Amino acid sequence: MKISNNFDLKEVVCKRIYTQYSERSIWFVTPWMINTLQSIRNYFGVPVEVNTWWKNGGNKQYRGHRPYDCPEGAPNSFHKMSLAVDFDVIGKDSIEVYNEIIKNHVKIGLDITTIESGTNGWNHVGNRNIDPGFREKFDYRFKNGLFIIERR
Ligand SMILES: [Zn+2]
Repeated sequence: MKISNNFDLKEVVCKRIYTQYSERSIWFVTPWMINTLQSIRNYFGVPVEVNTWWKNGGNKQYRGHRPYDCPEGAPNSFHKMSLAVDFDVIGKDSIEVYNEIIKNHVKIGLDITTIESGTNGWNHVGNRNIDPGFREKFDYRFKNGLFIIERR
């Protein structure tokens, strides 16, 4: 099922959720995730890839929404609330994409508040609040209003 101009529902949920809920899997996906992906797609003007499990030979399935008991990623990851997404901007270097999003996230819009650094070949953006105290202490982690999640 198409969820925006360039994205299908299968691209943002895992195989188990889609198998169980079919088109009702849309319940698990936030408007933020759909609109952010489409906005990134429009901004870069090239395809953006999230999950690939539904394609021949594809094995990526936890890059959009993750079920609460997902074996992959942090236990309290915002992927579980569909407020974080991993993606490849096809044909673009992930560092270039990272820098471009930091520079223009307000223009890309839709409350991208976090971005992960140090990813290789892919990018992660999210929409979570950062408490002001943390911001005061760790100002170096903010760049042009975006909170940088450092990958270790
Ligand atoms: Zn992620």
